[in-house]
Amino acid sequence: MKIANGVLGTFGTTVFEVMSRLAIEHGSINLGQGFPDGSGPRHVLEKAASSLYDSPNQYPPMLGLQELRESVASHNKRFYDIEIDWQTETMISTGATEGLAACFFGLLNPGDEVVLIEPLYDCYLPIIKRAGGVPKLVTIRPPKWDLDPVELRAAFSEKTKLLLLNSPQNPASKVYTYEELSLIADLVKEFNVIAVCDEVYEHMAFGDNKHIPLMTLPGMKDRSIRIGSAGKTFSLTGWKVGYLTGHQDLIKAVAKAHQFLVFTTAPNLQRAVAFGLRQGNDYFDDLNSVMKSKRDRLSESLNKITGFKTVNCQGSYFLFVDIAQTEFSGTDIEFCKHITTEAGVTAVPVSAFYQSEAPQNFIRFCFAKEDALLDEAAARLATHFS
Ligand code: PMP
Ligand code: GLN
Repeated sequence: MKIANGVLGTFGTTVFEVMSRLAIEHGSINLGQGFPDGSGPRHVLEKAASSLYDSPNQYPPMLGLQELRESVASHNKRFYDIEIDWQTETMISTGATEGLAACFFGLLNPGDEVVLIEPLYDCYLPIIKRAGGVPKLVTIRPPKWDLDPVELRAAFSEKTKLLLLNSPQNPASKVYTYEELSLIADLVKEFNVIAVCDEVYEHMAFGDNKHIPLMTLPGMKDRSIRIGSAGKTFSLTGWKVGYLTGHQDLIKAVAKAHQFLVFTTAPNLQRAVAFGLRQGNDYFDDLNSVMKSKRDRLSESLNKITGFKTVNCQGSYFLFVDIAQTEFSGTDIEFCKHITTEAGVTAVPVSAFYQSEAPQNFIRFCFAKEDALLDEAAARLATHFS
């Protein structure tokens, strides 16, 4: 008897888990899996703690608590001038991951095509395929990450039901420009497609690389779903609270899946996230500038290491390094294992994010860490490669 499901059984354990386990085994500094090492904003934690005692801990409403759904709507208005009716156009999910799964299960029929831009965050393909969707991949490659308009158009067909756009993009650290978004939006409209927008790094677009939700482009509001994550916005990745905004018909369809996947999400965390999203602009500006300075700090110290060359990072938690000029001659996977065991620093191989022929000379570091840890990691690598 074949025990595992025929689709999911073909996927291995995620690269994040594999590298984190290896990091623990060797006691190395883990700059692989993307998670911050701070304790998160104190007042948001306090709100979660007090809500745990003060409020009912029974099932919240299936679409989420009113106070959080209202906060999600006002967050959309404040940052992007998007008018959202909290009662019909928002849904709270158990992390962005469950929100994505609910989109794929709630919107796709077997045989429907889904356009995606690789390198891909790891959960998209397994869930899309399990939902019967047929992925159509467009590839962008480091160091420039240019999107080829001809390749993009060729991915669309009469069978296309969804486009998935992740901006700022993990792992490419790319923030899509207005011109690129226009190109995408025009195709989405021409082929009458729904856009599922994974925007979990919305507050981590750095400098001049402004985050623009695809939903804000002309004609896109009614055919887009925007997904955010408290894990990223409050540096609390274990919380798994996500929020979706979209046209009521889309939210209704997605909720059909959400109600059977998890039904709802921990009430105290929802209250704390509602509070968090209502913080002043200084909280969000600060998050952005702290992450940007960490990116610059790590980038500067890694560039001093013989053979290391960082790639422009426009947003997200991640910095790429081109290792082609190092003396190491193996693949990116071998390189990541090598630095874990020999230098005491863990990164993630970029080839893991590609289905098509992958570049073999890029590795990804997460810089959402305390400065001292970033410095120590860079020092260890510098010693090893000197
Ligand atoms: N999308 C992307 C691009 C991510 O990097 C992550 C998180 N790590 C997620 C979705 C999942 O977010 P959550 O933890 O809220 O499920
Ligand atoms: N998003 C994180 C990353 O890219 C990991 C999330 C996970 O481990 N599932 O590293």
